[in-house]
Amino acid sequence: MLNRLTISQKGLLLLAVPIAFEIILVGTLLAILFPMQNALQQSSQYVSKTNALKQLANDMNIVNAALLNGMRSRIYGIHDFVERPAGMSFDAFEKRADVMINDAFNAEPRAFLAIPLKKYKLWTDSTQEHLADYGKATSSAAATSQPNNYKKRFDEFQALVLKAQYAAGAGRLAQASQASAEAYKTLAKLYVDVNSELTKLSAQDKQIREDALGQDESRLQAVSQQVTIVLVAGVLINIILAVMLAIVFSKVASGRLLFLMDNTKRLTEGTELNPTLAGSDELALLDKSFHDMAVRLETSRRKEQAIIQNASEVLCSLDADWSFVDANPAAQRVIGFAPEELRGKRLEQFLSESDWNATRVCLAEAKFNSNPINFENELIVSNGARIPMLWSVKWNQEQGKVFCLARDITERKRLERMRQEFVNMVSSDLRTPLSHLDSFLGKLTEGGFGDLNKDGSDQARKSMRNNKRLLELVNDLLNLDKLSSGQMDLKISECSAIDLSQRSIDAVVGFAGKVGIKLVNNAEDVNLDCDGDRVVQVLVNLIGNSVKFSPKGSQVICWATPDSDHMIKFSVQDFGRGIPEAMCKSVFEKFKQVSKADATEKGGSGLGLAICKTIVECHGGEIGVDSELGKGSTFWFRIPQRQKA
Ligand code: ADP
Repeated sequence: MLNRLTISQKGLLLLAVPIAFEIILVGTLLAILFPMQNALQQSSQYVSKTNALKQLANDMNIVNAALLNGMRSRIYGIHDFVERPAGMSFDAFEKRADVMINDAFNAEPRAFLAIPLKKYKLWTDSTQEHLADYGKATSSAAATSQPNNYKKRFDEFQALVLKAQYAAGAGRLAQASQASAEAYKTLAKLYVDVNSELTKLSAQDKQIREDALGQDESRLQAVSQQVTIVLVAGVLINIILAVMLAIVFSKVASGRLLFLMDNTKRLTEGTELNPTLAGSDELALLDKSFHDMAVRLETSRRKEQAIIQNASEVLCSLDADWSFVDANPAAQRVIGFAPEELRGKRLEQFLSESDWNATRVCLAEAKFNSNPINFENELIVSNGARIPMLWSVKWNQEQGKVFCLARDITERKRLERMRQEFVNMVSSDLRTPLSHLDSFLGKLTEGGFGDLNKDGSDQARKSMRNNKRLLELVNDLLNLDKLSSGQMDLKISECSAIDLSQRSIDAVVGFAGKVGIKLVNNAEDVNLDCDGDRVVQVLVNLIGNSVKFSPKGSQVICWATPDSDHMIKFSVQDFGRGIPEAMCKSVFEKFKQVSKADATEKGGSGLGLAICKTIVECHGGEIGVDSELGKGSTFWFRIPQRQKA
């Protein structure tokens, strides 16, 4: 189940479980503390009401004291009058007060009413204010007692005082006395009521607190104990839970990581991999990719192995001492030794002394070269036969080995020999008699052997033309062979482009004049390093072709000019028939002609441009043609202005 979760989901779970537990813990604590909180809240409502009442009682005291103070200076026994003796009932106290007030008033009616108005106003104002506070506390209190209408009663008291003052002022003393007596009674009753409610409220508040918290605070202790237990247990459980989860997750993850590491080890050792990891988390996906990669590696390794095992060439490696380290099965077929027989044998054992000396130099060179080194030698194989081999070797610094690809080139050598024999045959057995025949036919047509009749001289001329063509073909073939087999060394010297151009024009000018073509030398005065004779050979071929394929009366222009990359560009421009675009590349191949008639009518062999291409490439240049059918062609070639020594 855990393996299905991704690493981020596991991380979330690791966080979420302790957080959820903490939420439960806080909930439990709140549930424990809630009743206490409730009781305290109720109690606080009682407190505000009690406070308001206390203020009120205080006010009453002040007013009461003030009323009596007015008389104090003149009336004796005032203390008895003010305080209700302990144990006296209210009715008795009221009756006694009535008598005392009447007596006092009768004795000093003016003094009773002589409370300074300013002071009186302050007292009544503050009482009104405290009455309003009481009203608010009462309306918000949860356990309100019956409203006592204190405000109304205080207003009545005030009205009575005013009445008494007014009557006294008017000299109606009897009326004033009655009103003031009533006023005092009202106030005294109000005072008593306020005090008695205050006592009741205090008792209620005490009860509520006791109910909520317990009389001897045992409840409070129990609650605090509960809170402590829940807190400690909760924190402990939370820590254990978090640690356990962390251990489980890390165990699961590290177990799976070890599994992956084991697979990596197995892959490097080449042993079979463990089955894929169960689950769908990132590690399982990684393991799956790893298995896929291992399968692909194995497939490509098998393919490589198959290529190496079935290769016809010998693939082998040699150590720094040039002894065989490994080889493929082709070694058995080519050298006559199985790979395991070859192991440890020095390459020197299979070569003649001169071959070994040359080979050793090439192998040593490979050590300091990042590119493969190619060379040829003759291996003396198990049956003593000598097999020509072409080697391509590359040094591997890391492994301290040279990796070799050796190809049996017996067949190539045989073909080369055959070609050489053919060339020799053409050169001696064909060219020599053709040259003799050419000079004989020349002499014959010029009457060197006596005059021929018309028919005879026509035939002799025709034979001479055909013989010349054959001789040209043979010469071209031999030329091309020499060039492409690298037997022709270029004789590089500094030449003038104008001179080269002029020499070429001079060689063709006679033939051009015969067909009415004008040759123009437009070469610039630049010097270059080249094999002058070979460049003239190329230009003669290009100018000759242009003359052949240009209409009578037109001109052929020879250009030479400096080009980009320090090259000199030679061009031969004609205004002849042009070359189809599709053939502009192939005309440089051997025996490629635009039409068959170019061989018969124009007497070409199709080898001229191939020879030109080889000469230009030998100079490190390139050749091409820009042509437009019916408008003419410009054959060009570019060669470096300066050749390396
Ligand atoms: P050859 O001229 O002996 O046939 P080349 O290799 O010199 O052989 O030329 C190959 C062919 O290229 C020619 O036979 C001809 O068809 C075509 N060609 C060469 N030069 C021109 C040219 N200036 N105008 C038209 N065609 C040309």
